[in-house]
Amino acid sequence: MTTAKNALIIGASRGLGLGLVKTLLADGWHVTATVRNPQKAEALQALGKVVIETLDMDDQPAVAALGQRLSGQVFDLLFVNAGVKGPEVQTPGGATLTEVGQLFFTNAVAPINLAQRFVGLIRPGTGVLAFMSSVLGSVTMPDASEMALYKASKAALNSMTNSFVTLLGEPTLTVLSMHPGWVKTDMGGEGAEIDVETSTRGVVDQVNAYTGKGGHYFINYKGETIPW
Ligand code: NAP
Repeated sequence: MTTAKNALIIGASRGLGLGLVKTLLADGWHVTATVRNPQKAEALQALGKVVIETLDMDDQPAVAALGQRLSGQVFDLLFVNAGVKGPEVQTPGGATLTEVGQLFFTNAVAPINLAQRFVGLIRPGTGVLAFMSSVLGSVTMPDASEMALYKASKAALNSMTNSFVTLLGEPTLTVLSMHPGWVKTDMGGEGAEIDVETSTRGVVDQVNAYTGKGGHYFINYKGETIPW
């Protein structure tokens, strides 16, 4: 008999985070998941078997407090999924200082702050730390220039992840910067290419495939490598 694995999913009220929880539960994982507002997390609560914690990832004291509450637990997977699209107008002259600051803080700074505080909870040797990046964060990607600020925020996330991994100097930790595909969620829109279930099935398959490899990889939900 194998022991069930433990996952911690950050940002699981809806969309891909909620989908990740469903896929992991179906695979027999134990899941702890965070939401910003438990009053709006009916879909997650309805799954029943999930330990739900409240967290706004931008709130640094709240991140530290959750780290304290979870201390002593060991997670096989920490998945930082939460992210935002940013302002409607993404031209450099069309967005405000507040909007740009919010976008870059949530998408690139807060995930790494959380990872720094939570890395000690990840199982040594086989644990996986995953970030929900995007192919749009590849600096080689010419598409979607109307989302220039979002693209730059995901490139910044990848760069911050690279610095974090380098400073950590722990070669056995597996770190994934994941592109989930273009997915039908509130962010991806109705016209996106794939549904949440297809995406999260692929993402979890990649987590399993990369377990124990060690190192930092930028891949999509099919396991294809993406150029930085
Ligand atoms: P979504 O439907 O808009 O969901 C975003 C999730 O992030 C929600 O659960 C939201 O919580 C949470 N969140 C946002 N800011 C947060 C914060 N400061 N603290 C904690 N939670 C926060 O988007 P999605 O499509 O599922 O996207 C999930 C991730 O995948 C994002 O990082 C996104 O950039 C990335 N991604 C998506 C696609 C796509 O096609 N959908 C493609 C590439 C990458 P609330 O419910 O409280 O707002």
